[in-house]
Amino acid sequence: MVRINFRMDRTNGQASSGARPEGSLTSRDGIMHRSNRIVAGTDTQRISEKLPPYIPRKFKRIHVELTNKCNFSCAFCPDAVMTRERDSMPEELARSALDQIAELELAEKVTFHVMGEPLLHPRLFSILDHARERGLAVGLTTNGALLTPATIAKIAESDLHQIDVSLQSPDARSFAATRGSRIDFLDYQERLLDLLAACAARPSPPILKVRIMTTRFARKVRHKLAIPDFMGSSQELRDTVMDWSERIYRRLGLDEKALDTVRRRVRKVRIHAWNVLEIGPRIFIETYVLTDWGNAFVRDSVIEAHHGHCFGMRDHFAVLCSGDVVLCCVDYDGRTALGNLNQSSLLDILKSPELERIMAGFSKGRLEHPYCKRCLGSSSRIGSWVKPIVSVLALKVLKPLFYRQYRLYE
Ligand code: SF4
Ligand code: SF4
Repeated sequence: MVRINFRMDRTNGQASSGARPEGSLTSRDGIMHRSNRIVAGTDTQRISEKLPPYIPRKFKRIHVELTNKCNFSCAFCPDAVMTRERDSMPEELARSALDQIAELELAEKVTFHVMGEPLLHPRLFSILDHARERGLAVGLTTNGALLTPATIAKIAESDLHQIDVSLQSPDARSFAATRGSRIDFLDYQERLLDLLAACAARPSPPILKVRIMTTRFARKVRHKLAIPDFMGSSQELRDTVMDWSERIYRRLGLDEKALDTVRRRVRKVRIHAWNVLEIGPRIFIETYVLTDWGNAFVRDSVIEAHHGHCFGMRDHFAVLCSGDVVLCCVDYDGRTALGNLNQSSLLDILKSPELERIMAGFSKGRLEHPYCKRCLGSSSRIGSWVKPIVSVLALKVLKPLFYRQYRLYE
């Protein structure tokens, strides 16, 4: 299949209705305790003072990439064009990154993914345990193909805040066309459902999200443009949501009467939106529109943008498996590296003059980093004008129109 110029929007929105309260703070003797650390008012103030003013008090999420190796080669992913060495983060480095994030109280959530499949990391469960011991809310994103009864049991026992299952291609046809894997789709689907069932059965279940990719193009146009064969109409999307809701309800033993409400309410879901659909208690189906990864697949030169708006380093940033700290989860190749945790502390990297310059630019709608200029640029002159304007409108004005959260069950 021809690789095309679209990417999945990686922004991982948090559905408010399903969010577990951040940390679990309890008051004893007037001091607030969180896990193994003390969070007293003066400590919080001291941490705030350490951080430069352009850094948010708390990021919505910090991505820690445990490995950039993957067992899939999806047609919509820049895995094939990534030039970084395939590697896994040493456990000591992962622990150190988590310690620093915890000590600075920097994130609402840590999520173990940028590129790669975290289940390929040989020390994943030890790292998850460490994150939990440090009182961090942890999200795990997995494509699910490596799940076995043993790994499912371990994930369920890991007391995670959120588990994202990257289903993306929800049926045998789109799976075969896009994921670059020969595993049997029905077997794959069963593994995912087993994971959801094991996690949902926990006394304090994590938020469970099944993520599915869509396009804005009808099937005829998709074929003409060689766009991967994802859903391209609202009706296809609704049918898929119902299909997966039924499977999930059956496997989790939920009351199937609630599906009547899901069936009625799903009619308002539209293909063009980024939909967060709560289909059951703490269970979501989230749909993303396939877009480009900052022109990742463009071989011709890109006309750079000079202005635009972006949430990189505002609501999230990423630590790659090499220890490089980068502006955002879109930077699959580490081009915006600000420093490396093997050489510098996270705090020193966040205080770097280079980041200060980039953030001053962002605050004025100006792009300072060459990779940001490419990311929001375009291979066409018109695109290079339109994309930055859309980036500002989309994130500042239009978000309520295309980011839709629905509770589909009663
Ligand atoms: S499973 Fe994820 S990381 Fe792996 S190739 Fe597919 S999209 Fe990329
Ligand atoms: S503009 Fe820069 S920070 Fe934003 S997504 Fe693109 S590369 Fe990341």
